[in-house]
Amino acid sequence: MAENLVLKNLYKKYDTNGKKKQAKEQPWAVHDLNLEMEQGTFVSILGPSGCGKSTTLRMIAGLESITQGSIFMGEQDISSLHPKDRNIGLAFEDYALYPPLTVYENIAFCLRAKKVPGEEIDRRVREIAKTMKVEELLDSKVSGLSGGQKQRVNIARALVRHPKVLLLDEPLSHLDGKMRQILRGEIKRLHHEIKCTTILVTHDQMEAISLADYIAVMKLGVLQQYGTPDEIYNDPANAFVAGFIGDPPMNLLRVKVVEDASYTYAFELGDGSLLRVPEKFYRVIHTGDVFDLGIRPTSITIVEGEEYDARFKVDLFEFLGEERSVGIQINESLLNIVYNDNRRFAEGDIIHIRVNPDLLFLFEPESGERVRPR
Ligand code: ADP
Repeated sequence: MAENLVLKNLYKKYDTNGKKKQAKEQPWAVHDLNLEMEQGTFVSILGPSGCGKSTTLRMIAGLESITQGSIFMGEQDISSLHPKDRNIGLAFEDYALYPPLTVYENIAFCLRAKKVPGEEIDRRVREIAKTMKVEELLDSKVSGLSGGQKQRVNIARALVRHPKVLLLDEPLSHLDGKMRQILRGEIKRLHHEIKCTTILVTHDQMEAISLADYIAVMKLGVLQQYGTPDEIYNDPANAFVAGFIGDPPMNLLRVKVVEDASYTYAFELGDGSLLRVPEKFYRVIHTGDVFDLGIRPTSITIVEGEEYDARFKVDLFEFLGEERSVGIQINESLLNIVYNDNRRFAEGDIIHIRVNPDLLFLFEPESGERVRPR
C-alpha cells in the first residue's frame, strides 16, 4: 500500500492569549486544508508571506498542534504522534546546525541520539555526505561554511535517518542567485535519486514551477488550487493563482462587455479601447457584464494585417535583451506585451494586436473565480 501523505480538513488557529489580535482578513492560519500527496512525488506549497505554508509544514512535522483535522501517512493517522516517531526529515531555512561541531557530527547527531551502532552511523553519514556532495567537508567546523554548504549539510542531516517524507522550508531563500540556482538543480537531482516524498515550502513561483510535480497554491490560509505546474500556469482556478504564477505576471484588466459593429461583442477596457470577445465566451457573457480579463504578456501578438482583435497606442517600449516589451497604459493599469523578434516601437505608435483565444481568461470581479466558456 502506497504511503501517501494525506491532509484531511486541517485547521489551525494560533492561541495568542489575547496578546495579538487575529487579523480580520485571516482568522485562521490554515483553513480546511485537504491535500493528498502521492508517495514519492515532489510537492510545493506556494503562496505569499503569511498564507499558512510554514504552519502547514510544521503541523505535518508535529512541531505545531492541529486545531482540527488529521494527517495520514498511508493508513496510519500520525496527527498525534511525537515528531521523532513520524519518520519525517526537516530542513528549515535557518539551518539550525550546531556551530561548534563538525559537519560529520552534525549529520550523525540524530543517529547518535537514537543509539544507532557506531559502524552504521559511519556508513550512513558517509553515504549521505556523498549524495549531498559534502564528503570533503566532513571534518570541517560548520561555522566556517558558506550558506550553500550549510544548506547541503542541513539537508544531509534531514536525510540521514532515511525519512519517508522530506520537508524543506524555504531552503534557498538565504542564498545568492548563482548558489540558489546550483542548489535548486541539486535538490532536483536528489529527488530523482532518493524518490522520497518531498514537500517544499516557498514564496518563489519559479522555484515551485521548476522543481515540483504538483503545486498547492495558498492564500490567507486557504488552498486556492492543487495541480501540476502546467495546470496551475495554463488553467488557473482564479484570478489570484493567475496573477501569482508567471513572470512577468499575467495582465489583469477590469472590462465591460459591449456590443460592437465590427467585433460583434467586445470588452471595453475602461479607457474606451476595445478588444474582440472570442466566440468561445458568447454563451457566458451578456452586454453590460463586468469581468476581470486575464492575458499573459506572451499570449499577445503584434500584427500587421487587416485582421486584429484590438488597436492601441504605445506608451512604453523596453529592450530586455532576449525579449522586447511594449506597455499600454489603460487607466491605472499597464497592459504588458512581451515578444522576442527585433521589431521596435516608439511612444505614440499605433499597434494592432491578436490574442490567442485559448489563452484568454475571464474572472468574476468580486470573488476572482474563473468564468469558463461553456
Ligand atoms: P507563511 O509560512 O506562509 O509565511 P505562516 O504559516 O508562518 O505563513 O503564518 C500563517 C499565519 O499565522 C500568519 O497570519 C501568521 O501571522 C500567523 N502565525 C504564524 N505563526 C504564529 C505564532 N506562533 N503565533 C501567532 N500567529 C502566528
